[in-house]
This record gives sequence, structure tokens and C-alpha cells, in this order.
Amino acid sequence: MLVPFGRRTVTGYLLGPAREPIAQTDPLEIKHILDVLDDSPLFPMTMIPFFKWIAAYYMHPLGQVINTALPAGLNLSDIAILTIEEAGMQAEASSPLAPLEKIILSALAKRPLDIKHLQKESDQPVSWALIHQMRRRGWIRVDRRIRARQIRSKTVRWVTVKETTVDANRLSVQRKSIRHMLETEGDLSIADLKTRIPTAPALIRAMQKAGQVVVYQKEIYRDPFGDPIQSDTPPRLTAEQAKAVNAMRPLLGKGFKTVLLAGITGSGKTEVYLRLAQAALDKGLCVLVLVPEIALISQIERRFRARFGETVAVLHSGLSRGERYDQWLRIAKSAATIAIGARSCIFAPFGNIGLIIVDEEHDTSYKQEGGLTYNARDLAVVRARHDNALAILGSATPSVQSWYNVTVGKYETAGLSRRVNRQPLPTIQTVDLSQSRDDRGIRRYITKPLRQEIQKTLEDGNQALLFLNRRGFSAFPICGRCGQPLRCKNCDITLTLHKRLNAFRCHYCGFSKAAGSACPSCGSEKIRLLGVGTEKIQEAMTRLFPRARVARMDRDTMTRKGAVVSLLKDLKNRRIDILVGTQMVAKGHDFPGITLVGVVCADLTLNFPDFRAGERTFQLLAQVAGRAGRGDQPGRVVLQTYNPDHFSIRAAKAQDFKAFFDQEIGFRKALGYPPYTRMIAVRISGKDSQQTAAHVRTLGENCREMQAKDGLFRKQIQVMGPIEAPLSRIANRHRWQILVKSPDTATLHRFARELILGHQAVSAGARIKVTVDVDPFFLM
Ligand code: ADP
Ligand code: ZN
Ligand code: ZN
Repeated sequence: MLVPFGRRTVTGYLLGPAREPIAQTDPLEIKHILDVLDDSPLFPMTMIPFFKWIAAYYMHPLGQVINTALPAGLNLSDIAILTIEEAGMQAEASSPLAPLEKIILSALAKRPLDIKHLQKESDQPVSWALIHQMRRRGWIRVDRRIRARQIRSKTVRWVTVKETTVDANRLSVQRKSIRHMLETEGDLSIADLKTRIPTAPALIRAMQKAGQVVVYQKEIYRDPFGDPIQSDTPPRLTAEQAKAVNAMRPLLGKGFKTVLLAGITGSGKTEVYLRLAQAALDKGLCVLVLVPEIALISQIERRFRARFGETVAVLHSGLSRGERYDQWLRIAKSAATIAIGARSCIFAPFGNIGLIIVDEEHDTSYKQEGGLTYNARDLAVVRARHDNALAILGSATPSVQSWYNVTVGKYETAGLSRRVNRQPLPTIQTVDLSQSRDDRGIRRYITKPLRQEIQKTLEDGNQALLFLNRRGFSAFPICGRCGQPLRCKNCDITLTLHKRLNAFRCHYCGFSKAAGSACPSCGSEKIRLLGVGTEKIQEAMTRLFPRARVARMDRDTMTRKGAVVSLLKDLKNRRIDILVGTQMVAKGHDFPGITLVGVVCADLTLNFPDFRAGERTFQLLAQVAGRAGRGDQPGRVVLQTYNPDHFSIRAAKAQDFKAFFDQEIGFRKALGYPPYTRMIAVRISGKDSQQTAAHVRTLGENCREMQAKDGLFRKQIQVMGPIEAPLSRIANRHRWQILVKSPDTATLHRFARELILGHQAVSAGARIKVTVDVDPFFLM
């Protein structure tokens, strides 16, 4: 709705009635709503407590929380279209008008405009107050329009047979066979009939004229490759799937519960989701399905649409603004009962949710960076609690956090331990990179075993996927002899090279070590900076296999819209023999032609300066290995590393997340990292380096003071920093961070709130931005 706010008119959201003034002297003044913008609410009332919870937990203004939740472009200023009315035409011709009114009306008489263009055309500012005044006089109309293209549904022609008195014996042979097909198989599309009887279109036309068949249009969904999505029939569940479904189905509609569904890749988790979704719909409850953000429509989205057709709404970043808005309204108006989408889908405006599914719950794309920094996986559980729903978190490689919640009894668990088609997991061969440390150039990274495997794959006419995760940091210090990375002695975090300081530093606590230091494990002075990237590998492939068609998929090559689709199309149609890529290739794609996956250097992820590096490595390797051998032929994986005995790598080889968890959890406990503590990152940035540094110092002092004054803060809170962020300058802003952690969430949040209030006290007027990231993921 439109409300007065100071001297402006802004979009507001109705959350409930205002409180009555308590006494005559109460300073509370209730203003009137200017206009109601939507005939039906954009979200149900039941979501308001959810929004309020988010605002409190993530320390973010409520209005901005709602703004983040709603599809973009709903704010009146950028989508209101002004159209002149009959009365406006008359007024323009006859009434005495203020000059600006005259200008506005004559501009709108030519064509409808939004306020931006109206201002341009009238060459002066136009206030909303004036617009609304003119609207109230009936001169103009204000429509909220999204100008983006609306989705047009695609239809195909289907044929149904008509009961007629025509004697079948009098039909021609071809007509008779068409009639027979329709009678035995049910309705068929003309395209389908044409593949069997090439002259079908003409025959159908004739039969339609004769009243023997009826032709009708049927809506179909398209996948991004342009292929229609065929509707499917549910397969028979495997014994394991049936057990999982039977365990969870009785939980629907019985209040809040969270179940972690751990199932290896290819074990048929999606079919379990589909059955439970059906069960929820049968009870009249809605279903929310969250999937990781990937470049394309996901496999799971395609399968939900195949099973449930029009009742599915989708919400993801691949949609245009208009399409998103349409989908949102379909949900809000209950035209859809299932919503599938990436992280923002957690805000889908359903009133009666019975089931929330989070697929690949370990995936980092559920974390929103910038603005409201929420984690959709966590919010799924929170929303399920608010709505008394069942939450299912599914993964082949569950996060340490979620499995920990199982071990402490917060979550229930269900498991799938075998592949549906009984195919073995791909065989994984590890290659010790330190064996090839004396090889020159690219041969150090494309070892002989890997080369041979690629050669063999190409000879068999299959495809190879080479994976190398080189993001941002290229300079991890690692011992060239024993393969140990240089780590911080306080934090067990890999150090990063700061060229300017000529030193290795820990970006959690600030510990630093001179750049010329020797390896603390073996004393070798041969410290190597891992610095190989996807581009180098692609070039090497072209050189080593001159006849192979080589392509690369990473953030550098995939910026153009549509690039991903066309690359994946080439891969699907086997126009690519070797694909080199970053983690973009590890997710969700399913290509039967890929029989070999090569992990060029697993250590790049393993030594990423983050306490979750081991966890990410395990997940990424287990997932990327799952890309091989999806077809009939078994898959092979060559995994190159300096640390073949590292438990993350061993566990990934066996796809054994419990083995990984049992080791990792010990480190987390010893060092006080999540899940034993919670963290908040306070980020400070500013254009002026001295001003920013001074502000940061004050905030650091405030931390110490707060701890000196408050016993609970002293005991329960650990403050790391302030320290310059590892990416110390982005877009000319100097970046700093303070990491705060505590085993107690309430105390941690109270501390962060006080710190931010303190910041407001010291920052009056300074152009410094301070943001709070609750449960941070990327500490860069
Ligand atoms: P996951 O999500 O666990 O990796 P999927 O759900 O993608 O596994 O299932 C793997 C494959 O097995 C898919 O091609 C799916 O269609 C098929 N599948 C799943 N369940 C069954 C079943 N009960 N009968 C036959 N095929 C199945
Ligand atoms: Zn060493
Ligand atoms: Zn440290």
C-alpha cells in the first residue's frame, strides 16, 4: 500500500493494526494509508511472524526483509504506469489548470508513461502527492505493471477419438489404424501420430471434418533445451525407498519435525521427495522444494514438473522479472500448490505448508551474500517450525552442522545406501602429486596416469570432465616436499600470502609468518604457491590431445547469457570431448557420455583459508565423482593430490560422510568452531583508508570494553580481530572484519547488537559501512 513517510510517499506493507494511542499525551500519531495497491495480499498473514523472526535473527530492518522476500520490481516507483482517463482529457481541454498539471496531462494524452519518463518529458520533478491528487480527481489512472515479457505457454495439438456410428469396416486402412491407436492407447499428439504414420496430419484433418475425432490444444512445459517435459508415471519404489517414504509419510500434518535424508548419489532421493509431496497434496497441504542455484533448470525441477504439471510454480534467477511476479501470484492465489526454486523460494507465499524439502542441503548457494545474509537451508527449518510442517534435508554429503543436529537428537534421519540401478560407485584412483614435483611445466599437474586415462576415454569415444577449483586465491603456500600447507598456529587455517607485507598471514586472527619461512613439518625451504588455473589446463589439453574438442566452463567463460545452455547442449550432443571446469561443473548435471572425471588438484579446496575447507573438499569431491558413470558404462575418477592420506580425501573416495564427520567433528570441538559455537562477522568498509582504520580501531576497543564490563561477554565471547579482510580492497573500499564467536547464541547476538549500536554512536556522519553477517560462510 502507499503510505506517507516524512515528505515522501512510499510503498509499505500491512502487518497488522496500529496500537491505539494510550493517552491524550501519547506522541503516537497514526497516519492514514493513501492507497491499497493490491486487491489480494502478496503474502499470507501467517508469514509475518516468520519475517519478524528473520529481522531479529539476522539483525536486518523488517521492511527490507519483506522487500528481499518479495519478487523484485514491486515498488511502486519503478513499475507504476500512469494513464490518462476520459475526465483527464476533458480537464486538459477545458479546466483551468496549474502549469505542471497541464504538462502532465498533455504528456499522458499522447501515451501512458511511468513517473521516470514523465519527469523526463516534463523536464521537472513530479511528486507522488500531485499524481495521487490527480488520480483522486479521476483524471488519471495508476496501474502497477511489470513491463517484462509475460510467459507464454506452449501448446501442442492432441487428438481424441469420438464415439460415432460410423461402421469401422467402412473406414480406410489408415483411418482404421489411427482409430485403433487412439482407442487402445488413449489420446495422442499429432506429432506422435506423425512419427508412426507420416500422413497423419492430413488424415486427422479429414477425420475431424467427418466428426470421427476431436482435436484440442494441450499445454506443455518446456525445459531450457526446448524439449517438452513428458509427464511420467511413478515407478515402483525400491525396498529402501519404500522404507524411507513409509517412515516419513505419517509425519505429515502432525506438527514440526526435521528429517535428514542421507542417500548416496543415484540412490533415488528425488523419487522419495515426489512421493512425500504427493502425500502432502493429498492432505491438502502445500509443498516447498528448495534446490541449489545452478545455471539451468535442475533435474529435480524437471521431474516435479513431469509428475505434477501445472500445480508446480517455479522461482529462480533464470526467470525474468515478469515471469517471477506471475509465478509469485500463482502461489499467493493458490493456483499452484508446489513451489520449486533456489534459495529465495523459501519466501514462497503459501499459507498452509505441510512439507519443505531442501535438496543438496549442504550446498553453499543456500547462503545469500550481501543485503539480507540469510541461509535458506536454516530458514527452511525455521519456517517449518512456524508452519508446523515437516522439513526434509536431503544430501549424499550432509553438512557437518546438519549431521551434528542428528547426533544431538534435534533431527531425525532416514537413509538410502544403494544406487537404484545397483550400479557400483565409480572407482577412484588417487595420484600423489608430490611424486611429480620435479616434472616441468604442466606435466606437474597433468600426470601420466591422468594422461593415459584421458587418452583411453577419447579412444572409446567417451567424454572426460576435468575439475579444478581455482577461485580467487591462487597463492596457497604448500611445502613442495611433504605437501603440508603452512597453517596458522592459533586457528588451523591455511595462511595466505600478502604480497605487500611479504608475509603469510592468517585472516582469522592476524598471525603472520615471514615469506621466506621453511616448512614447519619437514624443514624444507621449497615452499610452493599453488597457482594453476582452468585456463592453463584447457590450453594443455588442446596441446596434448590436438584432435579432441576441448571446452571450458567457469565464471570467466560463462558470463554471456545463454553461454551455459549452449555449452551443456554441446556436451549432451557429444560435440565436446573434454570439458575443463570449476565447481560449476560439479553440480546436478547428468550426462551419460561422461565416463572419466579428473580432479586436477584437490588441494586447492583443501587448503582454502576457511575452517570449512575440509568439509567443502569432501563434499565437492564426492559430488564431482558422482558425475562419472551416470550412463550404462561404469565411471572412473582420477584424483590428484599432495595429500592422498588426508581424511577428507579418503572419505570422499568412499562417499562415506560419517567417516568424514567423525574425524572433522573432533577438530571443530577442539578449536571451538561451529557447530560447537556460532559466529557473526562484522564487516567494515570505507573509501578513505585512514578514516576506516580509525573507525575499526574504535570498534575493536569497544569490543574489549564491552568484555571488560560484562562478565558473560568475557566468559562466552571470543573476538578475533579487527583484521584487514583477505580481499582488502574491493571497488576502492578498504575492507576489515571482526569475527565474533560464542557457544551461546543469545549472548552472541546481544554482543553484536550492542557493538552495532556503539558503532552508530561513533560513526556519526562518517562514510563507513558496517554490516553484520550472522552465521557467515565466506570469510573473505
Ligand atoms: P539421487 O537424487 O539420490 O542422486 P535420483 O533420484 O536422481 O537419485 O535417482 C537416480 C535415477 O534412478 C534416476 O534416473 C531416477 O529416475 C531413477 N529411479 C529412482 N527411483 C527409481 C525407482 N524406484 N525405480 C526405477 N528407477 C528409479
Ligand atoms: Zn614439508
Ligand atoms: Zn589465526
